[in-house]
This record gives sequence, C-alpha cells and structure tokens, in this order.
Amino acid sequence: MSHDSAQSTDESAKLYSQFLAKNYSTQAITLVKGKGTRVWDAHGKSYLDFASGIAVNSVGHAHPVMVKRISEQAEKLIHVSNLYRNEPQAKLVESLSKYCGPGRFLFCNSGAEANEALLKLARLHGKKKSGVEGKCIGVVVAEKAFHGRTFGGMSATPQEKIQAGFRPLLSGFSAAPLNDIAAWDKAISATDTAAVLLETIQGEGGVFPADPVFLQQLQKICRERNVLLLIDEIQCGIGRTGKFFAYEASGIKPDAIAMAKGLGGGFPIGAIWMAPPHDELFQPGSHGTTFGGGALAAAAALAVIEIIESENLVSRVAAQSPAWHESLKKLAQKYPAIIKEIRGTGYMVGVAMNIDPLPVVAALREAGLLAVPASGIAIRLLPPLNATVAELNEAVEIFDRVLSAWKVA
Ligand SMILES: *Cc1c(COP(=O)(O)O)cnc(C)c1O
Repeated sequence: MSHDSAQSTDESAKLYSQFLAKNYSTQAITLVKGKGTRVWDAHGKSYLDFASGIAVNSVGHAHPVMVKRISEQAEKLIHVSNLYRNEPQAKLVESLSKYCGPGRFLFCNSGAEANEALLKLARLHGKKKSGVEGKCIGVVVAEKAFHGRTFGGMSATPQEKIQAGFRPLLSGFSAAPLNDIAAWDKAISATDTAAVLLETIQGEGGVFPADPVFLQQLQKICRERNVLLLIDEIQCGIGRTGKFFAYEASGIKPDAIAMAKGLGGGFPIGAIWMAPPHDELFQPGSHGTTFGGGALAAAAALAVIEIIESENLVSRVAAQSPAWHESLKKLAQKYPAIIKEIRGTGYMVGVAMNIDPLPVVAALREAGLLAVPASGIAIRLLPPLNATVAELNEAVEIFDRVLSAWKVA
C-alpha cells in the first residue's frame, strides 16, 4: 500500500462527504483501476468485479481493443452534435441492425433517456391511433418494474420508494403483475392504451424474468389492439443472457427496444430501436439531444460489439452459465436459511435472500467480491461477458466462504 494512494482515498472520502449530493449510499472504497474482471481500490486491495458498474462493463475493464478504439477516435473527433453526420454513428447503426432487423435507431446517453424516447414514441403512436392528441396515452407497465429516474422513468416505475416525494407524475400509467396475462388483458384497452412497457428480465426489482409464453400472449394482445410492445433491454440486453437481446429467447418481435448499460461498456450511451412503421413517428424537430450518438460514444459501443463478436461472447455466456448456475444452486441448498433461490439467465443472476442482502453484500466486498443488491430481496451477480470459468468459480467460492461464517439471527 503506497502512502499516496492511502492519502488519496481518505481525500476522496472527505471530498465526497463534503461536496456530493446525498442521493447515493456509496460504499466505503475508492476504486482506482481495473483490468478484465478485477478492480483495485486506493489501498491496493483487489476485487472480483461482479457488479460490472451495474451490468455496464460488458467486456470487463481496460479491454485493449476498447482502449485502442476510444483513444483512436478521441484523437480524430470527439463530438460534432447531430447537426452533422459522424462516421462511428453510421457504422454503429449498421452493426446494431444485424441484431434488431429492419427499422431505425435513435441515440441518447442513458437508460432513462432511452425510456423517455420510448414514452414519447408511445404518445405519437396514441395520437396517430386515436386521431387526437392526449386521448390515447395509456401505458401499462409491470409491477416491480424499474425504468429510470426521470419523470417519465419514475412514472413507469410503480414503486413507492422511487416515486415518493416527486408526485404528481405523468398520467396514463397503470401496473399489472408480471406474468399474469389475465391482468394485462384487462389493463390493456384498445381505445386508451398506447403501449405496454416491460423488462424482459426485471433487474432492480429483484431479478424476475418474464415468462416466454406470457410475452407471446402479450404480443398477441398488443397486435390485436394496436398497442405498442415496448421492451426495456437496458440491463438484460447486449449479450448478458446468452442471447444478444434477452427477448429473443421468447420469439417475440418488439415494436421498439430500449438499450443502454452494456452497450457502451462503460462509456455513456443509450439507444432505442423502432420497427417499421413506427420508425416513421419521429420526424424532424420531434425529439433530440445534443450528445446522443456522439462520435466517441458510438466508437465505444462499436468496440463493445466488435469484441462481443470476435470473442464469441454471446455463445460463451450461453455455454458457461449452466454449470455456474448449478454451483450457485448447490450453494442455495447448502444455506437454505440464507438463500431462498437462484433466479435469472446467463450472466444476470439474482441470489434471492431470506435475510437482508445489504450486510452480505458488504461482507462479500470485504472478502473480495463486488455484487449488487436488488430491492432489499436479492444480490445480483453481473460479471462481464468475458469473465472466465475460473472467475465464475472463484465468485462461488468467495460466496461460500462468507456464508459459512454467517450467523443467522
Ligand atoms: C438502469 C436501468 C434503467 C435506467 O438507466 P440509467 O442509465 O440509470 O438512466 C432503466 N431500465 C432498466 C431496466 C435499468 O436496469
């Protein structure tokens, strides 16, 4: 441990507490570097990073191709706005369209902004459908959903802890229980509902997957009633489940998709894809953002896709996750008083807990494993897509070691 870095971590802690808004319960470590699946704090302690910046660092830390592409682009051109074309954005839509099919993309800078764009798309669709602005504005969302912290995002997030203090929110939203098709059938009105919006696998809510049959039935209802099927793939998309998009496993075809987190591998970028004919709803002047699809962000996303493809990461996640899930399930059997069940797909795993996850997350961190709590009920393990089998096993070993010493009250 160098004297300098110890000093810098103390300095960071002091500056954080003095100057930063109090909206985060930031954990008491300062991370200073990363390589692959590992990160180091200012004291030189290393951690296996299964937080991945909340499902963001899809190709790990400091991937040489990513570093190279970002620095090459930074030397050429960082930003020009959407007043002009830039080459990386053009290449990125070409690359992404292989996964989405025919349609159009709109770029932004975060997940919440991507969902805002989906909600604006829903308003335009509702206006077209009813012929009147403000008449058909209904959006049905899932209970326990999470769609972001902007006003649109909060309105689409039917959770008291997210909405409290910020009402009144946008009107027109209603919530139905995930996977309960009868409830959605009742909630979706042919005249008043413009869209449904849901995550293929709920992340922040506690890792609850949408059932493939439910998704197919929901798609059928949406088509019959001319309601947009909007899928939020912000956390579960871009290879994390062993498919490029998690919804692919169900065979549905969304009308629009929101993506962000894993897309930039750590560089902020968000996007929506829209299927025809809905991709004609946005016309010049109807939406926009200064930074969206900027050259550097687009180059970062292109690098992520290049790495995912050249290292076959989507099929690698699919191939490596069953054995990993098996060993996690063995852990659940070993500690039934602590672990309730293992949920999720691929490298998006929720360890559902019978006890408060927060002290366990802290103990895991002490033992050298970073993980993410979800809604006070689960611990998320979100390794980078290029995490090795040895690293997956190491995470299970650390978990085992921490739980073996756990005193259940
Ligand atoms: C994280 C997340 C968002 C919000 O993304 P931000 O980039 O934090 O605004 C929206 N939807 C889902 C499913 C998410 O996981």
